[in-house]
Amino acid sequence: MNIHEYQTKELLRGYGVPVPDGRVAHNVDNAATIAEELGGDKWVVKAQIHAGGRGKGGGVKVASSLDEVKQFTDEMIGSNLVTPQTGAQGRLVQRVLVEQACNINKEFYLGMVIDRATQRITVIASASGGMNIEEVARTDPDRVIREPIDPAIGLASFQARKIAAKIGFTGKQIGEAARMMQALYRCFRDKDALLAEINPLADIDDGKLMALDAKMNFDSNAMYRRPGITELRDFDEEDTKEVEASGHGLNYIALDGDVGCIVNGAGLAMATMDAISFHNGKPANFLDVGGGASPEKVGNAFRIVLQDPNVKAILVNIFAGINRCDWIAEGLVQAMRELEINVPIVVRLAGTNVELGAPILKDSGFPFIMADNLDDAATKVVATLEGAS
Ligand code: ADP
Ligand code: MG
Repeated sequence: MNIHEYQTKELLRGYGVPVPDGRVAHNVDNAATIAEELGGDKWVVKAQIHAGGRGKGGGVKVASSLDEVKQFTDEMIGSNLVTPQTGAQGRLVQRVLVEQACNINKEFYLGMVIDRATQRITVIASASGGMNIEEVARTDPDRVIREPIDPAIGLASFQARKIAAKIGFTGKQIGEAARMMQALYRCFRDKDALLAEINPLADIDDGKLMALDAKMNFDSNAMYRRPGITELRDFDEEDTKEVEASGHGLNYIALDGDVGCIVNGAGLAMATMDAISFHNGKPANFLDVGGGASPEKVGNAFRIVLQDPNVKAILVNIFAGINRCDWIAEGLVQAMRELEINVPIVVRLAGTNVELGAPILKDSGFPFIMADNLDDAATKVVATLEGAS
């Protein structure tokens, strides 16, 4: 689960990470008031979307007057911001962060991730922070250092100071950077984060260090015990179909082909997508109905998959263990009755109660295309598309 920069900064401020004074604005007047209250004569207006690379896409602008604050806010809010991380379709900007502008001497990078290989939270740091860190990591990986943290000890002061010195801090900035790292680590651990990133960590005016950009990503599976984080979720930033699916206890993943896939279990979803690809088809999405899916759940699954206008055929692949093929079949028939479905539907049922489920489909009068096994199903669903084109 992602949150916005302004939310991350608020959170980190609470842990003692120095961030510029600033607040979020939803419209032009809001932005001007905030800038006035912040005082000073230079502000930064920053588009709040769940994607980075905003600086390169025109989503971060320095304003030297209140009129410019208004102008930039007006340009950003309601616009579709395209950055190297949004894809060509961009993201709709609905709010901006207005904050104090700092004079930057140098930009560093400080991040933390859970490294699966060592199973530890790992610090990633570099003296080459700022907007080209991805490029640096690719072309000059030695300029990025990695340091795993022992979970039993946490990020000890000596270790944080060592990292700070390694990326070039000297004098009292070593202690400052180390404290920032320790605060980031505490927040990361306390809130079940998967990723935290301060980029740039800037050396500003008077030699102070400041987190000028901050990003965090949290483990969705742990959010039941992190209500304070859950309430920061911004549904506008997520795929509406994925949000609706999670509301129904379904897992939906959007892809870019034309075959809708309704399956049970993530492993079977992978196998189904492989089979479709093997037969030169392209999955449009996959929807995992999970175990013990009721007819209602199956109906909801259809509704969600059909919202994608690219779906030209649907493959239902159920290998029932806890699930019951008769319930799935009832759900399919119900969906055919209630929804306007005019794409071919290929169904492969196997496992629990298949002897009850298959006749329900056959006797329904609807033109389900039955398949004997996964390969047969994939062949048939791709054939329906070829017939159509
Ligand atoms: P992104 O990573 O999405 O491009 P950032 O918040 O990192 O967005 O902003 C891009 C660049 O803008 C930063 O690398 C920094 O140079 C500059 N910047 C961001 N915030 C401030 C600020 N408060 N004061 C001065 N410069 C800033
Ligand atoms: Mg940044």
